[in-house]
Amino acid sequence: MGPGPSNVHPDVLRALAHPLVGHLDGQFIELMRNTQVLLRSAFQTENELTIPISGTGSAGMEAALCNFIEPGDRVLICVNGYFGERLCTMSARYGAEVSRLDRPWGEVFTLEEIWHALAAQPFKLMAIVHGETSTGALQPLEGLAELVHARGALLLVDCVTTLGGVPLYIDRWGIDIAYSGSQKCLGLPPGLAPLTVGPRARTVLANRSRPVGSWYLDLTLVGSYWGNERAYHHTAPISMNYALLVGLELLSAEGLQARWERHRANAHLLWQGLQALGLELVVAPEHRLSPLTTVHIPAGVNDLNVRQRLLNEYQIEIAGGLGPFAGKIWRIGLMGHSSQSANVELLLQALQYIAGCNETSGVWRRIRQ
Ligand SMILES: *Cc1c(COP(=O)(O)O)cnc(C)c1O
Repeated sequence: MGPGPSNVHPDVLRALAHPLVGHLDGQFIELMRNTQVLLRSAFQTENELTIPISGTGSAGMEAALCNFIEPGDRVLICVNGYFGERLCTMSARYGAEVSRLDRPWGEVFTLEEIWHALAAQPFKLMAIVHGETSTGALQPLEGLAELVHARGALLLVDCVTTLGGVPLYIDRWGIDIAYSGSQKCLGLPPGLAPLTVGPRARTVLANRSRPVGSWYLDLTLVGSYWGNERAYHHTAPISMNYALLVGLELLSAEGLQARWERHRANAHLLWQGLQALGLELVVAPEHRLSPLTTVHIPAGVNDLNVRQRLLNEYQIEIAGGLGPFAGKIWRIGLMGHSSQSANVELLLQALQYIAGCNETSGVWRRIRQ
């Protein structure tokens, strides 16, 4: 119940044990085709270039940036958490001139402030994180593409924690480039990064003046393996692709709406339960991210001690904070197969028991009475 990897469904674990075929084998090509169909549905897109990048979510992030950035390009990055920072770092490494729009951690951006930032100068691309896993905030995306496109820029969205967990409509919302990761709400092991690229972004890619800075993540090469050519580029991680197909089939069988609703309902159960324990949530109710909840650690409570007791006595893993939130918050994941009411109830009971044993905190002493 941390920020990923989440628990993996038994059917997915079994798929990982299947004997291997070659990456150009007819059966594997068939699997690739089926995977792409299901991936498009998960992203709610018709984008032909919708593929799993070999690597974790950060490889998806890097592919999403390096294919569209050339040295000297201006990019605007919205930063309200750890992963926004990473977008800045990576963009700068590919030679972009990075402008930041900052917001305090735990908050989200308004369309108005983004519009002002976009108006300051021309940008080639704007990047924003949909679900900030470092803060538990969900960025609203509706209406954003119109602003970005009106300024002639591409809209790039980090959907690592939101794909398969909260409503996400790539085409309807006009998102040009989006990437995710296998180990969050898709409930797979880490190792693949679903990526989707729309027509506007493909034109930008086709019109580059120099080759992509990363050979491994170059979509003109990777895309021809996943496209009609099936040309060898790198050996696809066969077992992870088996796992992805099964994970996407589970998503499709459950239904996208039902999957979103499960994440929402279990998150609400968790939020109510945490508040009943006297704990304070970090993010305003209307901007909470159901797959990842952040909660303030009560004054006087030992962060590490509580997390170690949860792990050792209850086999529950939750995470601490990153950056400015280190030592100040806990991060509780309800992602993919881990998003179950039984998990929520067990965690709440474990916290209540641990809190009852803790003499240091006023908030938590109240629970004992
Ligand atoms: C987890 C995460 C990433 C990075 O993914 P890795 O699999 O750790 O490389 C990027 N962005 C967000 C929002 C994430 O939650």
